Order: sequence, then C-alpha cells, then structure tokens
Amino acid sequence: MTVSSSLSVAKNGRVLIAGATGFIGRFVAEASLAAGQPTYVLVRPGPLHPSKADTVKSFKDKGAIILHGLISDKTLMEKMLREHEIEIVISAVGGATILDQITLVDAIAAVGTVKRFLPSEFGHDVDRADPVEPGLTMYLEKRKVRRSVETSGVPYTYICCNSIASWPYFDNTHPSEVLPPLDRFQIYGDGTVKAYFVDGTDIGKFTMKTVDDMRTINKNVHFRPPSNLYDINGLASLWEKKIGRTLPRVTVTEDHLLALAADNRIPESIVASFTHDIFIKGCQVNFAVEGPHDVEVGTLYPGDSFRTLDECFDGFLLKLKDNLELELLQEEEDQKVSTENTVVESRTVTATCA
Ligand code: NDP
Repeated sequence: MTVSSSLSVAKNGRVLIAGATGFIGRFVAEASLAAGQPTYVLVRPGPLHPSKADTVKSFKDKGAIILHGLISDKTLMEKMLREHEIEIVISAVGGATILDQITLVDAIAAVGTVKRFLPSEFGHDVDRADPVEPGLTMYLEKRKVRRSVETSGVPYTYICCNSIASWPYFDNTHPSEVLPPLDRFQIYGDGTVKAYFVDGTDIGKFTMKTVDDMRTINKNVHFRPPSNLYDINGLASLWEKKIGRTLPRVTVTEDHLLALAADNRIPESIVASFTHDIFIKGCQVNFAVEGPHDVEVGTLYPGDSFRTLDECFDGFLLKLKDNLELELLQEEEDQKVSTENTVVESRTVTATCA
C-alpha cells in the first residue's frame, strides 16, 4: 500500500461509519454529524428492523449520506472509498463480525487514500486485558484485526473507552439501555475494584476528536475521566442516593462469575467473562497509561469535560420517573376502560330486562 504523502486529515474530511445502526456506532455517528463532519453511513443491505429504520432516517435528516453494503465485500468497499473520497473510516461492528474487518482493512490498504482507520474496539486495551473464555476469543479476534491494520501501514487509532456509564449487569451487552436495579444490588467480589464509566455521548464525542488529531496516529487512546472512576459499592451508594432508599446487596463471587462464563452462552457468558476481568482482576486500572503507544483523552483535550457518572445517574432517575408516570397513566387508562365496560354491561342487562 502507498500511504498518502500527508497523514493530516483535511478539516472536515469525509467519514465512513460501519455499524452506525448499532449500540456504540449510533453515538459515533451522532457525534460525527454534530461535529459537522461529512458523514457516510454504511447500512447492511436488506430489510431493517423498524427502530433501525428510524435511526437511519434520523441520520439522513441530519445530513448523513446512506450507503448500502457489507464490510466483507472488498470490491464494493474499494469502490465506495474511491468514489466518495473517504478519508476516515470508523468501524463499530458487533462481536460476531469482528473478523470481517480484515477484508475492510485490505480494501482500505488497496485504495491508499484513507488517512485514519478506527477499528471496532470501544472497550479495553485488548493487548493488555486477558479475560477468561469466551471473552478471550473476542479479544483474540480484535488482536488479529489490530495486527492486520499494523501490517497494512494504514494509520490507525484504537479507542479504549472502558465501560459504558450504567449499572454493569453481568449478562447484558448493552447495560445502559436498562435502569440500575430497584430490588437488590449484585456486588462482584468485595465490590472494591474500580473501573471507568463513560457516557455513550462522550464515547462518540471524544472518538470524533481523535480522528484528525496527529497525536493519536497509531495510538491507543484511553478514556480515564477521574470523575467517573467508581467501584461497584460506590456505584450502588450513588444510585441509592438518587432513589432515596437503600437496597439489599448480594455478593456474586469470583467463582460464580467464572461458572457463568464457563456456561458458554453467547453473548451472556462473554459479558460475564468481561465482568470478571473488570471487577475481580481490575483490568481497567492495573496498568499506567505511559507506553509509547498510549495517550489519555483527558490529557489530550483538557478543556473538554466528561458527563459525570452522577449526571448520568440523574438521567436514569428521570427515565425511572417517566416510566412510573407512564405506568400510572396506563393504570388510569385501564381503570377508565374497565369502568366504561362495566357501564355498558349494566345498560345491556337493563335493556334485556325491559
Ligand atoms: P451492535 O451489535 O449493537 O451493532 C453492530 C453494528 O454493526 C450494526 O449496525 C450492524 O448492522 C453492523 N454490522 C455488523 N456486521 C456488519 C458488516 N459485515 N458490514 C456492515 N455492517 C455490519 O454492536 P455493539 O455496538 O454492541 O458493538 C460495537 C463495538 O463496541 C464492539 O467492538 C463491542 O465490543 C464494543 N462494545 C463496547 C461496550 C462498552 O461498554 N465499552 C458495550 C458494547 C459494545 P445491523 O444493524 O444490520 O445489524
């Protein structure tokens, strides 16, 4: 491959995002559009689930150009990259299709004009973290993608954004879509191992800041906002403060997490193995960001603040209140319908009697 003579991305270089209809990809696409970046969204061909169709429409309304195709189609990807003069490619494809990115890397290398590639990482530094199976298999695949990018010579950035801000359920791949618990807390081990929790909008925002930043070329970019470093005991207390009551705490032991991982139910067991790695082994905090390939996002952009975990939990509280209001409204509606039915029934009886 011929790496383009200049590595600097033009201000507002064209971005192609694969996986934008997914959980993490949506945050990235929203941030790209909000940053005024010409944004091309790759959507898989075929019928879309209605909620995904809505997502695609909202991207389009905000100015995105929608393209259809698979990252595993090298010829098509090459054509797209050339035709649309794409400078930045971001992939946020899900766990099952991580290896498809190797074909995408081949296409990017063949075209030779892409100035930055961000593979689907968005978690831990996969060369450092070492979860048990089945999480390990996903990391082996992500490592393979890393090696193929590095061999290709395509400039890259690896986003290591740690955990998404939410209650870290051990069996849910998208825990921020669920409210923190209202019945009991499941505490992993002694609950004292810390982790970084980052809001999805900040994952998108800071990812987009890195794409044309020369300081992030061929680097792992770590997200370590000090305001969002919590252990699970602290997380439980924070939620208790928000809801104004205490909840029982149940210990989930290391052995229990390992047994859940060993069940090999996909994707739940993958999440259990990551939960073990984070909250028992401390994979997010057991190394310093000081290697030649490491940069920390707060150091790069000291003027930009993160949404604090406290604010994120306020958001969950608002959602909880909205849900309760909806439930109350629904109950009132049900009550009204049942009263009306009763009235209709009694009239019918009256008529029959007449
Ligand atoms: P999702 O499964 O939610 O979304 C995957 C996206 O990729 C979808 O848009 C899907 O399209 C698209 N896609 C899949 N295969 C292809 C293909 N061959 N060609 C084009 N598009 C494709 O993924 P997640 O958001 O859960 O995961 C994305 C990344 O983020 C992963 O690396 C994952 O490990 C990481 N992650 C990190 C989390 C954290 O807490 N830090 C939490 C969750 C994920 P379609 O809509 O058609 O299915």
